[in-house]
Amino acid sequence: MGLQLRPNCEYCDKDLAPDAPDAMICTYECTFCPACVATLRNVCPNCGGGFAPRPIRPKNEWRPGLSIEKQPASTKRVHLSYSVDDIAAHSARIAGIPVGER
Ligand SMILES: [Zn+2]
Ligand SMILES: [Zn+2]
Repeated sequence: MGLQLRPNCEYCDKDLAPDAPDAMICTYECTFCPACVATLRNVCPNCGGGFAPRPIRPKNEWRPGLSIEKQPASTKRVHLSYSVDDIAAHSARIAGIPVGER
């Protein structure tokens, strides 16, 4: 188990390689690029939570079975199911609330 490491931004569909230093995720692993996180005002369109940088899985197998080779990133692209207007309203409703109080 571990993070899925999804291959793309769920909003703009930009590729986000497993070792991308700028991929952002919410606690449910909804995954976005930094430009979209800014557009979304740090509000996940799915859960309403905030984002944090996605950790990078090690290339080297420092411990048995634990590396990007042994546990590869997901290749299943994910896309939002909400309209642009819906997402904007969702962000506007939630963005002013500190992430710890959402
Ligand atoms: Zn994006
Ligand atoms: Zn989320």
